[in-house]
Amino acid sequence: MSAETIKQILEKRPLIISGPCSAETREQVLDTAEALKQTGRVDILRAGIWKPRTRPGSFEGVGSVGLSWLQEAKALTGLPLAVEVANARQTEEALKAGIDVLWIGARTTVNPFSVQEVADVLYGVDVPVYIKNPVNADVELWLGAYERMQKTGDKAIGLIHRGFSHYGNTVYRNAPMWHLALEMKRRCSDVPFIIDPSHICGNRHLLQETIQKAMDLRYDGVMIESHINPDAAWSDARQQVTPDNLVHILDQIIWRQEEMPTEELHTLMQKYRTQINQLDNEIIELLASRMQLVQEIGKYKKENDVTILQVSRWKEILDRLCAKGAALGLSEEFIIQYFDAIHLESIKQQDMVMNQKKD
Ligand code: PEP
Ligand code: MN
Repeated sequence: MSAETIKQILEKRPLIISGPCSAETREQVLDTAEALKQTGRVDILRAGIWKPRTRPGSFEGVGSVGLSWLQEAKALTGLPLAVEVANARQTEEALKAGIDVLWIGARTTVNPFSVQEVADVLYGVDVPVYIKNPVNADVELWLGAYERMQKTGDKAIGLIHRGFSHYGNTVYRNAPMWHLALEMKRRCSDVPFIIDPSHICGNRHLLQETIQKAMDLRYDGVMIESHINPDAAWSDARQQVTPDNLVHILDQIIWRQEEMPTEELHTLMQKYRTQINQLDNEIIELLASRMQLVQEIGKYKKENDVTILQVSRWKEILDRLCAKGAALGLSEEFIIQYFDAIHLESIKQQDMVMNQKKD
C-alpha cells in the first residue's frame, strides 16, 4: 500500500481500527480479518504481535511469525495493518514486514527511553504512528512521546486514548479520566484523536457508551478489539467482541456532527454562546473579587498569627454550598471539585500574603 493511500484511509471519519488483542494462530488471524472485512465497517486491521503484559506468565505474543499471518490477512482482505511496537527491533521488523500503521502502547509511552528508541528507528521514515496515553495520568509524558515522534520527520501522527491505571475500584479497567484526554486534545488540536474503548472498559458491556461519549467529544475514530471467538482469546478475552457484535455496537452509536446543520440553528447557538460568554466574564470577575477579600483576610491572619486554614470554616462553606447547589440542581461532586480549586487558589494567595512570596 502506498504512503498516499494509507494517509487517505487515516483521514476517514470515523476511522475504525479493529482486530484481535493478540495474533494467536494463523487461522485466528485470517478468520478474524475475513469476518471484519465482510462487515464493510473496518478501515484498518490491528493485532498485537509482541504483548507487553503487566506480569510474566501470561501470553506474551507470538512474536515475528505473526507478521507473516498479518501479511496474508492483508493479501486476503486488502485491509491495511496496524501493529504495536515497543523497541527498536520490533519497529525494524514491523517496517520490514510492510506494516502500514504502528502504534506505541501505554506501557511504552510511559518511558522516554523506549519512545526515543522507537523514534530513532523511525527517523526519516514516512510511516504513520499512533501514540497511546501513558498508563499513568501524565499529559506531559504523552505530549513528550508525541514530540519525540514529531522530531523524526514528516509522518502522520495520531493519539489514542486508552484510559489510565488507578488504584481501587471503578467499573473501568483503566479509568478514562476524560479531562486529561481533553487537555491533550486541546494541546494537540490538529492531531487525529481516537478512542480505545476496549482497554478503558475491560469488558464488552461498557464499550458502546464509551464510544458514544468519545464521539460526542468529537474524537476522530475508534480502535476496538475484535476476535472471531472472543471467549477463547488468549489475552483480554472479556473485552473483545465478535465481528458481528462490532457491527451491532457501531450501529447503536449516534454519529453526531460538530457543526450546526442550518444557518438558523447556528444563529440561535451564537445567541446562547454570547450569554454564556457574559456569564463566564461575570464568574471571572466574581472570582477576582473573592480573591481580593481572601488577600485582605490574609493580612489580618498574618498580623495576628492565625493559620491560613481553619478546617471547621472550610467544612461549613462546603456544606452550605453543596446544599445550595443541590437546591439548584448542581451535583455535590461538581460543587466540591469547583470549590476545591477555588479554595486551593485562596490558600495560595494567602500564603503569598502571609509569607511574602512572589508567585
Ligand atoms: C493493546 O492494544 O493490545 C494494548 C496492549 O494496549 P495498551 O497499550 O493500551 O495496554
Ligand atoms: Mn488488549
